[in-house]
Amino acid sequence: MDFARTPILAVLCVACLTPAFGQRELSGSAQERLALDRLNVVGSVLMIAAHPDDENTALLAYLARGRKVRTGYLSLTRGEGGQNLIGAEQGDELGIIRTQELLAARRIDGAEQFFTRAIDFGFTKTPQEAFEKWGHEKILADVVWIVRRFRPDVIILRFSGTPRDGHGQHQASAILGREAFSAAADPKRFPEQLQWVQPWQATRLMWNPGAFTKEQREEVEKMPNKIVVDPGDYDPVLGHSYAEIAGMSRSMHRSQGMGAAERKGSAKDFLVTQAGPVATRDIFDGIDISWNRIAGGAPVGAALAEAAKNFDSENPTRTVPLLIKAQKSMSSLHDPMVPLKEHELNDALALLSGLWLDAASDKFAVTPGGSLKLDATALNREHLAVQVASIEIRGISPASTKDKFGGVLPFNEPRVFAFTTNVSERQPLSQPYWLAEPKIGDTYTIPNQLDVGLPENPPLYEAHFHLKIESDEIEVVRPVAYRYIERAQGELTRPVVVEPPVALQWSQSAILFPNRSARTIQLQVRANVPKATGKVQIETPLGWRISADAGDFHLAAPGEQSELSFDLTPPSNDAQGALKATARENNQTVAVSMETINYPHIPVQVLFPPAAAKLVRADVRLAAKNIGYIMGAGDEVPQALQQLGADVTLLGSDDLATGNLGRFDAIVTGVRAYNVRADLRANEGRLLDYINNGGAVVVQYNVADGQNPFGGETTLSNIGPYPLTVGRERVTVEEAPVEFLHTDSPLLHRPNEITARDFQGWIQERGLYFASKWDPHYQPLFETHDPGEKPQEGSNLYARYGKGMYIFTAFSWFRELPAGVPGAFRIFANFLSSGKEQ
Ligand SMILES: [Zn+2]
Repeated sequence: MDFARTPILAVLCVACLTPAFGQRELSGSAQERLALDRLNVVGSVLMIAAHPDDENTALLAYLARGRKVRTGYLSLTRGEGGQNLIGAEQGDELGIIRTQELLAARRIDGAEQFFTRAIDFGFTKTPQEAFEKWGHEKILADVVWIVRRFRPDVIILRFSGTPRDGHGQHQASAILGREAFSAAADPKRFPEQLQWVQPWQATRLMWNPGAFTKEQREEVEKMPNKIVVDPGDYDPVLGHSYAEIAGMSRSMHRSQGMGAAERKGSAKDFLVTQAGPVATRDIFDGIDISWNRIAGGAPVGAALAEAAKNFDSENPTRTVPLLIKAQKSMSSLHDPMVPLKEHELNDALALLSGLWLDAASDKFAVTPGGSLKLDATALNREHLAVQVASIEIRGISPASTKDKFGGVLPFNEPRVFAFTTNVSERQPLSQPYWLAEPKIGDTYTIPNQLDVGLPENPPLYEAHFHLKIESDEIEVVRPVAYRYIERAQGELTRPVVVEPPVALQWSQSAILFPNRSARTIQLQVRANVPKATGKVQIETPLGWRISADAGDFHLAAPGEQSELSFDLTPPSNDAQGALKATARENNQTVAVSMETINYPHIPVQVLFPPAAAKLVRADVRLAAKNIGYIMGAGDEVPQALQQLGADVTLLGSDDLATGNLGRFDAIVTGVRAYNVRADLRANEGRLLDYINNGGAVVVQYNVADGQNPFGGETTLSNIGPYPLTVGRERVTVEEAPVEFLHTDSPLLHRPNEITARDFQGWIQERGLYFASKWDPHYQPLFETHDPGEKPQEGSNLYARYGKGMYIFTAFSWFRELPAGVPGAFRIFANFLSSGKEQ
């Protein structure tokens, strides 16, 4: 059966692969001009790389905004394994932030965004490791799927598939892109996809090599089969060059600190043909990107050209009859590209007719069994005769209105159509679709094939406006969003979500019991509905005793929360297990917490992790009691240290400049603290005095100054008492063996005896940004390196200074401690105790 030719599937593809929101930064004549020009271009390009920030945003902007072709960026991963510069989120949460940053960037550069099921598991040096962790065929299937759905004329790889690319995941993206170029066209490859899509042969495969160093530029200059494009060209309609737009787009990658210059002037890029007919002048050499490529398409192209030619920015409605003519001839065509173009044409008709169409809900969230009020608004700001023939709300449940449709819209007076919808009691929560099922290794589980590739959940509801402009019928689709005002930022929108009536949150995601004593554990119950009343049930692993395994909650208003406390007694020997909570509220069972991610550059996001905490019983002794913590870019180490019984004080600028540091047994600098805190760099002398007087300072990882993504290292001026250079060395294999270099060092013995066992059960990596050079006053504590690499001793350095101790430690404590890794606690406790113990 050949579903792919039926119009139903085509429309479905349009709904899924069209950006949910328009480009807000374009408006007025520029937006109209671009919409008209774009309608008459039927070409497409898909760029493929591995991570958020790998994409060449200047090239994307040049293609989407300049050449007006449909442009996509396929990032194999959501960048979950990187470091977060703006907050403490890691893993799933970081993947959500990076996804939204990419979508924010795409709204500026005009491209679309796709992903595979692959998870960024952290830095790797070889593509083989990436394929082992992901499954080569699994991710190739996803790349093929996205190619078959998007149907690009040209595929552009960002990487070469060789060690030149650095990161093994970069190499893997090029290898998979090259394989997908032919596999997508082969009906024998991934035939299970053919119930939804047809094989697709892109015409040309190109490589857009990065040329950041002089050597790389010289290498690229010599390459055969290359053409030059210049995104530095100025676009008078947009008022910017594409390279400038790229700067704005790239600056959305805030969690990676990718703020970029809005570069003016020529900014050449190279494209090398790797397969298909060699391009000699232009990326689309030999590819017809006009309507002539579609059987019977010539009249459409002629009508659209006439429309564009006659466009008058003072009187945009004059173009409407010409667009209606194009629409009539388009409707008789049969080609998979046509539905997308019809959708664009309807949007352009609404735009040029001066219509404002919007759909908003009265709340940003609804619970299963609850209801929402939705307003669909139509505003006619020009003088054409426009009628709303009907509005359909499509989505997770039916919606109805008592308002009457029809009649000509009054001039410049909004007409609001009020809908209500009742959500089923069995409606699943709005978990991001890739997190709804447990992961398999380093890939997401996505049960519905049609979801594969989508950047985010489709909106819960969409409003389909059926309009009559003069006598022509069009359909315009708008997502239903929640619109709100934030005093500091003005009007914002956020997606509407399904949330549970209550959410459950343990005080820690991993709870450590450093001795046999019972600990009081808190479970927070937060209401999302009024009058939330019910019972919570706790489940403990065998061998752990809880003072009460159930509790009641009565919460009057949404947002109100209550805390249930339990005493939990661990087993006397080492043990691990899961502590779980379930709530019954009315007839809903809830076993999740709720996290909200709120940053000004992206729409608010929510996710619902299981309401479970990891329990860890392991002997950890700590001789330090008072710990000062200098928070850097953000991490959850302070909460972890409190579990050892320490009092942790976050140190502000005043503390660093004038406070009494002598009251602390140890002072710890947070992740990237020297990179982000000028007040820390300004008071390095006070920290050295503190050590000199008998204190212990523990410095976690920082990134070398002036470091670019392709190499180079410099010295952070006074990160320690003696010269020390932060480099780029890291150990990415979390099981990499660790050798003890100074077996007599007290750091390995007091108060905890450290053994090889303490390096078991680590997650993601050993560490990053090791010291590459250091003064002989420092002693290296450990040697560890990735398989096949040369030995490295710069991960942990210590030096006595005066009466105290300085420790530089580039192990990933910010991952291991919040995850409850027992050995990490024991080693870190020795570091903290080193002022007291020695
Ligand atoms: Zn990358």
